[in-house]
Amino acid sequence: MLEGKRGVIFGIANDHSIAWGISKKLSEHGAELALTYQNDTLLKRIKPLSKEINSKLLIECDFSQSNSIKKCFNNINQKWDNIDFVVHAAAFSDKNELNGRYIDTSLSNFINTLNISCYSFTEISKLASSMMNNGGSLLTLSFYGANKVMPNYNVMGVAKAALEMSVKYLSVDLGSNNIRVNAISAGPIKTLASAGISGFNEILKHVEEKSALKRNVTLEEVANTAL
Ligand code: NAD
Repeated sequence: MLEGKRGVIFGIANDHSIAWGISKKLSEHGAELALTYQNDTLLKRIKPLSKEINSKLLIECDFSQSNSIKKCFNNINQKWDNIDFVVHAAAFSDKNELNGRYIDTSLSNFINTLNISCYSFTEISKLASSMMNNGGSLLTLSFYGANKVMPNYNVMGVAKAALEMSVKYLSVDLGSNNIRVNAISAGPIKTLASAGISGFNEILKHVEEKSALKRNVTLEEVANTAL
């Protein structure tokens, strides 16, 4: 289905990452992937994963470093002159502030969270779209905490609301180039990022029980549906 298509993946930390689940499926369907990694510590985990899906391009990209996204696309452009899709499955906030009251959010963490979890997708969309010569697809990951107040999700909920709104603006900017922009709001899944949210296991348990009851499916199926 995706033979001949090329895409860039942001957000693999390990084999539990949502970005890794998506990458495996894309690869199974024939897509060629460039994987990015945040830093050298994560590179050690991503290298063996890249071999599993035969990915030849492994590129460093840390959204908190200025020009990192630009350098990343310059690197990709040296190897590929066209891309068809991007998956942005990355977010960050200080875990000390994913706990307690939203009102206590510090300015520095507010700016950092919005920069890494939201603005990065806008910058990536701009650079990626300039390499999408035949149209394409830009995908990011959101969470229900963008729409409803969730305990402890705090500034990340604000960032996801901004991300979802930026998807709408980007889709208007890029629609005429035949580029689709979407966010998938995933259900709760145990990953490195979700481990930083205080009380996350309770949300996970609640959703698993409700979903399994409603559809009479296994918990594994619930997690797959969220992907
Ligand atoms: P994860 O920890 O596996 O992935 C998060 C990724 O963000 C990591 O690969 C990390 O390297 C990257 N990242 C963090 N700071 C970065 C930076 N400065 N520069 C570049 N990359 C950076 O966790 P995940 O749960 O797979 O998260 C992927 C996406 O899915 C996130 O946007 C998250 O908010 C979203 N999401 C997760 C859940 C869940 O329950 N796990 C639910 C809904 C949405």
